[in-house]
Amino acid sequence: MTNGRSDEIDRRDFMLASVGALGAAATLMAGPAQAQDATTQRAASGAGAGGTVFTGDIIDGKQVISALDISDLEPGRHNFYFRGAQMPTGQHWYVSVSVAKGAAPGKRVGLISGVHGDEMSPMHTLQTVMNQLDPTAMSGSVVAVFDLSRPAVEAMSRRWHSSGRGIDLIDINRVFPGNENGPEISTRHAGLVFNRLLKPNLDYGLDFHTAATGMDATAFHLARMDLPEVRAMAELFPIDQIFDNFGENGLLANALIDAGIPALTPEIGRPRILDLAMIELFVEGTMNVLKHHGIIAGPMGRTGADSNIFVADGMLPILATRGGFVELLVEINDVVTEGQKLAIQRNTFGEVVAEYTAPRAGEIGARRTDATAEEGTPIVFIIFDSATPVGGDVIVE
Ligand SMILES: [Zn+2]
Repeated sequence: MTNGRSDEIDRRDFMLASVGALGAAATLMAGPAQAQDATTQRAASGAGAGGTVFTGDIIDGKQVISALDISDLEPGRHNFYFRGAQMPTGQHWYVSVSVAKGAAPGKRVGLISGVHGDEMSPMHTLQTVMNQLDPTAMSGSVVAVFDLSRPAVEAMSRRWHSSGRGIDLIDINRVFPGNENGPEISTRHAGLVFNRLLKPNLDYGLDFHTAATGMDATAFHLARMDLPEVRAMAELFPIDQIFDNFGENGLLANALIDAGIPALTPEIGRPRILDLAMIELFVEGTMNVLKHHGIIAGPMGRTGADSNIFVADGMLPILATRGGFVELLVEINDVVTEGQKLAIQRNTFGEVVAEYTAPRAGEIGARRTDATAEEGTPIVFIIFDSATPVGGDVIVE
């Protein structure tokens, strides 16, 4: 450091790290951008939107914002880069945000993709929906966040790398609502996105995912069907299955629900690819949700009633008991009976080292696509409806 001002900031940041007081942190973290201090403090205290904050930067013709408040935008279509967490180089991860604000007031729905960076069909779903919207005919708003975990998207990886203590890989969908003053970058980014982009601007949320790399899955939702407003949205998609389950703490959908914003996690099949046929089903369901909330007009499309959607309250992962090469004997959506053979596994010599059978009847909700499996790797997920749900520790979002 060569000047007094930088030294001063360093010392303050060091004190901040030692003390960790949220209020002081919120004030100091804004650094030289004094104009943002007020917004920072409001966001940190959960007081809601305090106006859209433009940083003054332009990237590829798009204005950069550090806070979004759609109430102060003109009706119409707006594309921004939202300034997320800062990298060690001093630059930031920017997130692509699109707002379609209707000419008339109404409900506000958030569409999110890219929480996991290897899940591509969700992004295309959002693009397709946004392209179909005409703000002049809308009552209310739709906010799309396309690439929430920018570094994970760049790497086509599920998790976010953090260099705070050597290389770490963090699943950001376990740390929501995040913490703007948290100890590592993905938690800070989650906090910024949650406090300044999503929470102040949404009445409802859909956080789109796919199966993880190495797995394939049906067109399904992870949804808390005991919540009537969540259930109403979930049933509007003409898809295969709904897995009625809480999931885990730290999921974006659960953080939104905790903030009073009904939300669910639609899952669009395989990771890494664009599954255009399956995307069409989720676009239709999303347009239904927007009609349900009165944001757009028009007749309802196909729903879960048309696709004979299967609501399951249990999911049982079949875990590999050996390392080896897995030959699957069942397909996605297959109905299986108790005792049915699901897969065999061979070692490098081709000798059969394990056979896997269904411990109970159900439907195949997800299956492995990578040919190898280590001990403990889920190779098949059976979903079922049961009076006594058996929750797995492993979920496929
Ligand atoms: Zn995911």
